[in-house]
Amino acid sequence: MTGRWDFDVAVVGGGPGGSAAAAALARRGHAVVQIEKTTFPRFHIGESQLPWLNGVLAEIGATEAVAAAGFVQKWGAAFGAGDADIERYADFARAPEVPEPQTVQVPRERFDQVLLDHAAACGATVKQHCQARRAKFDPDGVDLTYETADGGEATLRVGAVVDASGRYGFLARTFGQRNSDPELRNIAVHRQYENVPRRDGRRAGDIRIFTRADGGWFWLIPISDRVMSVGVVLPQTAYRAVAAGRPEDTLDAVTRATPNVAALLANANAVSEARFEADYSYLHSLQAGDRFVLVGDAGAFLDPIFSTGVLLAMQSGVEAAAAISAGLRDGDLSARRFRAFERQVVRRYRHFRRLVVGFYDPAFRDLFLSPSSRLGLFEAVLSTLAGNWRPSWSIRWRLWLFFALVRIQRHVALAPRHLEATSAAASRTFLEPAGDPSSPRLAETGDGRT
Ligand SMILES: Cc1cc2nc3c(=O)[nH]c(=O)nc-3n(C[C@H](O)[C@H](O)[C@H](O)COP(=O)(O)OP(=O)(O)OC[C@H]3O[C@@H](n4cnc5c(N)ncnc54)[C@H](O)[C@@H]3O)c2cc1C
Repeated sequence: MTGRWDFDVAVVGGGPGGSAAAAALARRGHAVVQIEKTTFPRFHIGESQLPWLNGVLAEIGATEAVAAAGFVQKWGAAFGAGDADIERYADFARAPEVPEPQTVQVPRERFDQVLLDHAAACGATVKQHCQARRAKFDPDGVDLTYETADGGEATLRVGAVVDASGRYGFLARTFGQRNSDPELRNIAVHRQYENVPRRDGRRAGDIRIFTRADGGWFWLIPISDRVMSVGVVLPQTAYRAVAAGRPEDTLDAVTRATPNVAALLANANAVSEARFEADYSYLHSLQAGDRFVLVGDAGAFLDPIFSTGVLLAMQSGVEAAAAISAGLRDGDLSARRFRAFERQVVRRYRHFRRLVVGFYDPAFRDLFLSPSSRLGLFEAVLSTLAGNWRPSWSIRWRLWLFFALVRIQRHVALAPRHLEATSAAASRTFLEPAGDPSSPRLAETGDGRT
């Protein structure tokens, strides 16, 4: 209790962004309540992490807790073509400005539980099976009403609210607007399998990405000793060409049409249902207001090709905590106090977005998959892929040059044109749907399930 409020801050959402904010606030000595609508463990997509997450985990004191969970070690990412013998390995140990190259692949139900427990261990009051319903703002505080586990309602008086409710967007739906990214209108279908072969040794835990000639791509992420998370992301038009009645059928059809993935899944057994994720990639028109801040997916979401989601969510959670803590100290939690936070979130989002949008450009893929590496251009891209959102000038000019070459590659072939070479074969198989092509209903929910 803090006198005029029950808690200094209420954090809505028990995902990585919410737990980072709650832990960071509690470690600064603030009274925090964290409200999560489900009861953990719960399924969530988003398993592959980036080396720069290590710094965030250290900042909230969660390094040991995450290490103790024994997650699969990830040292890099292999990018290959789905229908040709081409591969480019992104080895994080070669990435400049990356302090610790090793990161983890996680079943999110366990990872999120570890982080939520850590927030509680730091002193946050965690309430599960409680859904935030309404927030009433006035000049002196916020009345936050939530549905309790037994179906009743309760109200807490708090100084500020962190909306870390993911794509549900508890406050984001009320304040400002969600601007979908017209260049990233993609759809994902995914499922977990056992009995998928892995590489040996240090590369056994790496993510594998396989590109498709229609602009889509597959991920294979080893999330435990036995389970592989497999998913495909397709531009909407490509998706419509293959959509079958059930997500399972769609995934099977696209897998069959991607020879290198089909070979890896030849003896695989599905151990989960298949799920859709649609309508992602957006930047909210604001990231904060009087007495509230948006964190993670609530404020911005970027297509997952480079596994940036959890890093972005947790980094913004830590920064939101710092901004709110300073506001509490100075007795000023107005929107004005959060401007620097907002600018930082947007700048970081745009930094990664440039690469993500680039990946859907065949010219970018040509250069990216090309084995030559001059002037350290690939290493500059690699550093960003490892999560480096504060690149030095030395990385920045190389990225600039890389994108200049991408523009040239659109007109003059500096590197082999992989997509042109393979698209005819790929589209032949791709357009053999497994069932009646139809568009299943794609509804978005707050916890990432559709
Ligand atoms: C297809 C796909 C693949 C992805 N792959 C990756 C990847 O490999 N690596 C990666 O880093 N990211 C990945 N992501 C992104 C990642 O899933 C998210 O960016 C990340 O989970 C964001 O964390 P968050 O804490 O903001 O939100 P979430 O993790 O969504 O947490 C929000 C929480 O809020 C709770 N909640 C919602 N509404 C309320 C309410 N009203 N009251 C109380 N609680 C509420 C929800 O139950 C949920 O637990 C992927 C995303 C997609 C769509």
